[in-house]
Amino acid sequence: MTIPPMPPGLPAGEETRLFAAVDLVNRAGAKSFEFGYLHEDAPIAEAGWWAQAQYKGAKLMAEHHVSPGHAAEALALRLLAGATCKCGEQVALTDAQPGCRWKLTGEGQQARWVSGCDAPSIPIEAGELGDAEALRRKVEPRMNREQRRAFERDRRRGKV
Ligand SMILES: [Zn+2]
Repeated sequence: MTIPPMPPGLPAGEETRLFAAVDLVNRAGAKSFEFGYLHEDAPIAEAGWWAQAQYKGAKLMAEHHVSPGHAAEALALRLLAGATCKCGEQVALTDAQPGCRWKLTGEGQQARWVSGCDAPSIPIEAGELGDAEALRRKVEPRMNREQRRAFERDRRRGKV
């Protein structure tokens, strides 16, 4: 997917917003992406920006936005409506939405939305690998009651 060159005179941070949104549109599986504006002689914010993507055989569009980045972001939100994060919650790009709140990282062409649920991994030392007690001490605080019960069950059966 190629991105047209940025029009001159756009507000700061606009490139970040646009590239991050286009990355989302791309990851959502859209086949094409384009944006433009309706009013040639209007100020940037009143030009009527739109963004459009080919998605699952249909054309989806976001119209009447103050900048290409805002239009692209609105389009990405439409594509992601109801999309599920790897944590099982709905993807949320704003605090107003319920679900897993994704965060914008990086700047300009490196800007990306990343999931908000990347829990740190639990490092296990080589000496602890065969040591069920040591494992339990590390893993248990991260488990919910259901997982703890299953773990206890497995432990009694000698699986852990
Ligand atoms: Zn998540």
